[in-house]
Amino acid sequence: MKKIIVAGAGHGGLIAAYHLARAGYDVTVYEKQQRADLGHDWHDYLDMTAFDGADIPRPDESMYRPGAYQAFRNPKGNVKIEVAYKEDARVMDRKVLYGYIFSLCDEAGVKYVFGAEISGVLFDNRKITGLKITKGGTEERVYADLVIDAAGMYSTVRRNLPAFCEIQREIEQKDIFHVYRAYYKNSEEIHCDVPYVMDLFHMNRPGLGWTIFEEDYTDILIGKFGAAGELTEAEINAALESYRRDYPFITEEIVRGGCVRDIPIAKMLPMIVADGYAAVGDSAAMTIPLNGSGIVLSMNAGKLLADAVIEAEGKTDKKSLWKYQYKYFTTLAKDLVIVAKLKDFFTFVDGSLVDYFLEADILSAELLACGNGDINIPTKQIFHILSKIGPVLKLTPDIIRNFKSVVRLPAAINDMPKEYDADKVKAWVDNYSRI
Ligand SMILES: Cc1cc2nc3c(=O)[nH]c(=O)nc-3n(C[C@H](O)[C@H](O)[C@H](O)COP(=O)(O)OP(=O)(O)OC[C@H]3O[C@@H](n4cnc5c(N)ncnc54)[C@H](O)[C@@H]3O)c2cc1C
Repeated sequence: MKKIIVAGAGHGGLIAAYHLARAGYDVTVYEKQQRADLGHDWHDYLDMTAFDGADIPRPDESMYRPGAYQAFRNPKGNVKIEVAYKEDARVMDRKVLYGYIFSLCDEAGVKYVFGAEISGVLFDNRKITGLKITKGGTEERVYADLVIDAAGMYSTVRRNLPAFCEIQREIEQKDIFHVYRAYYKNSEEIHCDVPYVMDLFHMNRPGLGWTIFEEDYTDILIGKFGAAGELTEAEINAALESYRRDYPFITEEIVRGGCVRDIPIAKMLPMIVADGYAAVGDSAAMTIPLNGSGIVLSMNAGKLLADAVIEAEGKTDKKSLWKYQYKYFTTLAKDLVIVAKLKDFFTFVDGSLVDYFLEADILSAELLACGNGDINIPTKQIFHILSKIGPVLKLTPDIIRNFKSVVRLPAAINDMPKEYDADKVKAWVDNYSRI
């Protein structure tokens, strides 16, 4: 029986594990945390179609609730644009989601080793053959026909891959979104018609912030684009103070969360497969810059990966795994990678320009709703946004380069070789990476 290792219990890795175990593969997940500790200590916004795309049953209704009605606020705070949340969007506790996916994996016969830190990659004859694992102070070597890398954006698998894999090891600082998130107790019960307020360039910080008002607590997120540097404690405290001035019922008592995390907002890594290796989820930078959806995309990708392996009857060479990469790019990532370039425009603007965009209705409700909780962001909408913001920006060489990239990316994806051919794929990767 073919052996599969899933490195890290990331969402996409678990979905691939579930389908592969059901198809008769011997699947083991190696995860550094304990099972009960998995999952961030907060709720997430999820499109229910994630479960359809991952080809697993939708969870019972008791496990989630409807998504909140949302508003976008400009830095000055004088314009608030309300946007309807996508019909299929729901709010689900991350730990409940993990519990649900694990219950499916248990039934399918997936095996797990918790408390296992992945410290290195094994290879032989230009093929990835396994991992170095440290558990309870002892290092062991585990071997498999395929290593599925679901260890997140700082994956120690991807970062330790040998050079012949030609896979980008690091996510650049400019492609990281630093976020602080915590739930603070409310001093009184709160009822809001529009409980979810997204602040663009809150306090002129290049990034986003949100306040989501629940009855008993307020969910606060303070985010900063990596291009503008790390998120400092002083910035977090200043943003919290400002929110408490705006909403005096927010106390200082943290009821959940309270940590800084990073989200990849890169334009999807150009190469995510090698002989015996495939990356999925944050490890491959699959999140949509600006709107998240990393869970949805990881889960969808996990299913595509399992399909490719099953279709190739267990072959795990680069040629067979390329079918997974090709399918992911051409069905899901196609339009989304362009959003990464859209995000780069934020490095060229400041708070006053964002004020202007909202005051002058350039970033209208229709445009802000585009991709809100949705993974389908049509290229047409993106060009529409650019046609609105373009004339307002001073056309520096950097901005012109970025405009050109947005135009060239869809064509680059269309040119992706359907079948693996080393020279053609190399030429494609070089072109995609340059844009
Ligand atoms: C504040 C915040 C809010 C978010 N909100 C949303 C949202 O509303 N909707 C949404 O879809 N997405 C959201 N995301 C994004 C989402 O968290 C990720 O995109 C999603 O978790 C997919 O990542 P992953 O499953 O690939 O990896 P991860 O969730 O990072 O999982 C990786 C796993 O690998 C394990 N691991 C890492 N290194 C090792 C090692 N060396 N050895 C062994 N195990 C290891 C980790 O312990 C972890 O369990 C949010 C992220 C943040 C930070």
